[in-house]
Amino acid sequence: MAILNSITDTGNKHTDNKVFSKQSSLRDLVLNDLGVRQFLGCHPELSKDDIEAGFPTLYEYYQARNNKDSVTKDYVPELFVESKNKKHISITYHKSADAIKNDKEKARKKRLELINLPDKLRSVDLKYVDYDEDNKPIILAIADFVKEYRTNPHARGLYLCGDFGVGKTYLMAGMANLLAEEGHKVVFLHMPTFISSLNGHIKNNSVREEIQRIEDADILIIDDIGAETLSAWSRDNVLSVILQARMDNALPTFFTSNFAMEDLQRHFAEVRTSSDPVKAARLMQRIKVLTKEVVIGGKNRRLG
Ligand code: ADP
Ligand code: MG
Repeated sequence: MAILNSITDTGNKHTDNKVFSKQSSLRDLVLNDLGVRQFLGCHPELSKDDIEAGFPTLYEYYQARNNKDSVTKDYVPELFVESKNKKHISITYHKSADAIKNDKEKARKKRLELINLPDKLRSVDLKYVDYDEDNKPIILAIADFVKEYRTNPHARGLYLCGDFGVGKTYLMAGMANLLAEEGHKVVFLHMPTFISSLNGHIKNNSVREEIQRIEDADILIIDDIGAETLSAWSRDNVLSVILQARMDNALPTFFTSNFAMEDLQRHFAEVRTSSDPVKAARLMQRIKVLTKEVVIGGKNRRLG
C-alpha cells in the first residue's frame, strides 16, 4: 500500500487550499474504497503514474459501487488491468447474481399462466414439499415425467386422482414451476371456475383466443376436472375441442380430480339438460389416451 499512501498524501498536502481540499477528499474516498484497495493490492505492478492516469476509471468504479441508480443497480463493476501496451486500469460490468435471479424469476412467471388459480402456487417448489408414503407414487410419477420430457416433447401426462386436500393441486403447481423454469410454456387452469366464467361469454372472440392458448401450451394442467358444472355446450365445444387438439398434437396434458376415471365418465354423461353416454365415453377416451392414472391417498392436509 506504499503507493496508495503516497498518492493520498499528495492530496493531503493541499488540505488548506479550498479548491484542492474538495478534490483531495474525493481522492481519499475513492482510494479508500474497499474494492479499489483490494484491486490495487492485487496489482503491485501499477506505478504511481499508472494509478494517476487510471483515476477517472477508479472514480467511475467507486461511483458504480456506491451510488446505484435504476440503470446501474443490476450491475456489478469490476476493475482489471489491460496490459497490451501500457498498464492501463479498465472497468467492466457484470450482471449481479440478484439481477440474474430476478430475470429468471420473471421469465418463469411469464411462462406459467395460471387461470383462476391463486398466485401463491407460484412459490411451490418440488424440492421442499413434504414427501411420504401417501404422495410418493405421484412425486415419483412427476419426476419420471419431467425426466422423460427433457428428451421427448410428447411424453404422456398424468391423471391424479384422490380425495380433497391430499395435495393434488399443490404437487401440480410444483411441477408447473419446475417446467416453466426449464423454459416451457405451461397453462394451469382451474376447471370449475374456468367453465363458469365462460358461460355468458360464449360468442366472445376472446374466448376463442383463450381456448387457442390453452390448446397450444407446451404443458396443460387441468385442475379439479369433474367439479365443474358442464353444459352440453361447454363439454362439446370447449373441453372436447381442447382435448382433441392436445391429442392430435400429442401435447402433454395433466388432470387432477376427486373422481377416479370411471366415475368421471358418469359426470360427463349427465350434463345439465341431457344425458349423453356416447359423448361422455368419447371424452373419457381422450383423457385415457393423454394420461396415465395415478392415485394419491392420505389425509386432508388442509386440516394440518
Ligand atoms: P387437493 O388439490 O388435493 O385438494 P391441495 O393441493 O390444495 O389439495 O393441498 C391442500 C393443502 O395442503 C395445500 O394448501 C398445501 O399447503 C398443503 N400440501 C399439500 N401437499 C403438500 C406437500 N406435499 N407438502 C407440503 N404441503 C402440502
Ligand atoms: Mg385441488
